[in-house]
Order: sequence, then structure tokens, then C-alpha cells
Amino acid sequence: MQKYSIHEKFTPMKNARNGEKVPVVGQSLEKLESIVKEMGFPRFRAKQVFQWIYQHHIEKIDEMSNVPKALLAKLSETHILHPLSLKLHTPSELEPTEKFLFTVQSGEKIETVIMKDGKRNTICLSTQIGCAVDCDFCATAKMGFQKNLSAGEIVDQFIQVQRRTTLPITNIVFMGMGEPFLNYKNVILAADLLNHSEGIGMGARRITISTAGIVPKIKQFAEEKHKYKLAISLNAPNESRRETIMPITKTHRLNDLMEAANLYYESSGRFPTFEYVLLAGINDSLKDANQLIQLIGRQPCKLNVIPYNEIGGKYERPSEDEIKSFLSQLKNVPFQVTVRWSRGTDIKAGCGQLAVD
Ligand code: SF4
Repeated sequence: MQKYSIHEKFTPMKNARNGEKVPVVGQSLEKLESIVKEMGFPRFRAKQVFQWIYQHHIEKIDEMSNVPKALLAKLSETHILHPLSLKLHTPSELEPTEKFLFTVQSGEKIETVIMKDGKRNTICLSTQIGCAVDCDFCATAKMGFQKNLSAGEIVDQFIQVQRRTTLPITNIVFMGMGEPFLNYKNVILAADLLNHSEGIGMGARRITISTAGIVPKIKQFAEEKHKYKLAISLNAPNESRRETIMPITKTHRLNDLMEAANLYYESSGRFPTFEYVLLAGINDSLKDANQLIQLIGRQPCKLNVIPYNEIGGKYERPSEDEIKSFLSQLKNVPFQVTVRWSRGTDIKAGCGQLAVD
């Protein structure tokens, strides 16, 4: 498992660099124990604070009704509760999908989406502001990379959305803005907080981390034996095609990516899911489908086909007939195939459409 320091000395002061108060959301139980101890209160108070923020999703520090007022007053001197402020909540008029625009303490914007699909209500969390990976078809890539989100900024998306939506969140995907494995430490810390049995308690099988293919981090994820599910954005049936739409392939070659995906399977016993965004005239021919089968057909995996959500650029979604014909080629393959028709495209909440505009 990824180790993160839980015994850092508590510093009872504002963030030295910018004078901002430290958010409570994002603190582990162990860190909260150290904070309340430094403030002169018994350890069990930390568990109460932990449960108020992660189970009850309170809005303000003084809502913790069973915590001594003296502790809440001390906490308020140096801490705020939430690292994010909600700026806009946009429900789709066409589908049960909602988009949320937040600002972080330093003022940059991020987006979070929740979508209903059958019995599943899935929240799609952002992990970075912008993205450096530069996939050619993605709106977030056009923002460039601005910065990594902290674990608190990632988890607070869940807490603030759950406070405001009537849909009980059943699944979490790290697939919003950013490349999760380029913010590895904070993403794992956030997943551990989301999974913590004394807090939000989301089952590990309901948490999926997605990557465009950062090979060393996939290997690290496998070697550290994290219990979360892994999705890999593949999007092309061969190396040269992938290079044209995902420049990351020049650094992390396709063979190495396949090897890392297999390592994940061997160490976890779980099938990695390959995501395949279907782009008209780029990767949607029958020949492409056959090459894709050759590429992934020999290893245990699942395939998720996502018809492209247009962002007004050079790429287009294939026609219904072309999509059907591509899928029919995958009928008898030895791996499970699902199709994800993205939700909320009317509010630009579909896969690859997040760009805070
Ligand atoms: S698809 Fe994901 S990894 Fe690629 S540029 Fe967009 S946000 Fe980054």
C-alpha cells in the first residue's frame, strides 16, 4: 500500500505561504488525532470530527454538535472546513446528469459530474486543474496543465456534490479533468479517504482510477496492491495511430502499456478496463476493430467503447451505423464489451468535454 505520513508534526498556524487556513476535509483520521492532541483534547474527538466531515457532510465547523465548543473554536482559528467553493450547479435538461463548477482556494476552477445510469449514480472526479497529457481530442487538454489538486480538493468534490444532489452516489471514477497518475500520491490518499470505513465508506470495487497510460505508475499501482479498479484509455488499435491522438505514446510505448496492464491483472486478479473513444475516420473501421482484438484479445481485460462527444474541434462522432458495425465486429471476442453513451453532453459534462468554459 502507498504510505503517507500520518505522524507529521501538527503546525497550529495558517498556511505559511499564502496565509490561507488549512482545510479540514482531506485530513486523515491519524492526522486529525495529531491535530486535536496538539490542541489539548483527547484522541477520540478526532473520530467525531472525521465522522462529521466524511459521513455527515456538514457545511460549517460549528455544526459538529457533540464536539466541545472550545475545540471547535481552536479548530476555526487555523482551519476552514472545505477547500472548494461551489460556483455553479447545472443539471442537464435531457438526462439525469448534473455538472458542478468549483473554485479552489487559490481561485482556479474545476468541474465535477454526477450521472445516473440504471441503479448506478457515478461521480466523475477531477484530479488536476487542466492536464499536461495533451490528448488531441480532449477539451481539458486545451487548458494546458495548471496544477495538481490536493487529496482534500479531490474528496471535497464528493462531499459537496453529495450534499446537493438527490442521487445517492454509488460509484466513483477518477476520470474528470487531469491525469490521475500524474498526481499519484494525492489520488491514492483521496481514494483511501473515500474508502475509509469510518468515513465515506465507498467500497474499493466501486472506485475506479483511470489513466492515459503512465506505465511506471501503473506498475507501482500493481506492486503496491491497491484494491481499486484500473481503467486505461487506449483509444487506438496500434502504436502509430495512438501516437497521432495521444502523444504520451511516444514516452510510454504500447507494448510496455500492455505489459503493465497485465502486471495489474496478475497482482490484483482484477481485469483492467480498456477505454476506447470511438472517433469517426480515426479508429472506427472494421480493420481497426480487428487490430484491437489482436492487441488486447490475448490478455484478461474488459473493453469500454465510448462514442466520441464532440467539442467543436476536428474530431467527430461516428454515425450510428458506423458505431453498430464496429461493435458487431466485437461480438465473439473473449473479453467483455460495454458501450458508454456519455451523459450530459447538452451541458458539456460528457467524457472529454470538461474545460471550465
Ligand atoms: S483525456 Fe484525460 S489524460 Fe488525456 S488530455 Fe484529457 S484529461 Fe488529460
